[in-house]
Amino acid sequence: MAFNPLRHLYKTAEWRRLRWATLVRDAFTCQRCGRIEGDSSKLVADHRKPHRGDLVLFWDDTNIQCLCKPCHDGAKQREEQAAAYR
Ligand SMILES: [Zn+2]
Repeated sequence: MAFNPLRHLYKTAEWRRLRWATLVRDAFTCQRCGRIEGDSSKLVADHRKPHRGDLVLFWDDTNIQCLCKPCHDGAKQREEQAAAYR
């Protein structure tokens, strides 16, 4: 996992609120594979564009999408790792 200077923000009530608002907005549907997941603990509020420490990107709800865990942990991370080495 890459170093994330904003990691502590994921523990805040504000992030939990934003995460929940994102899941509701996207109707608990993975924006990558289309899976509808009833168990919200298996859904991730994902930054489309990696924030890389940018607070504006971090809190921008238009930059956040609902992904299921397999999509988030699999494809997405490979993409980001590939992007980091371009
Ligand atoms: Zn998915």
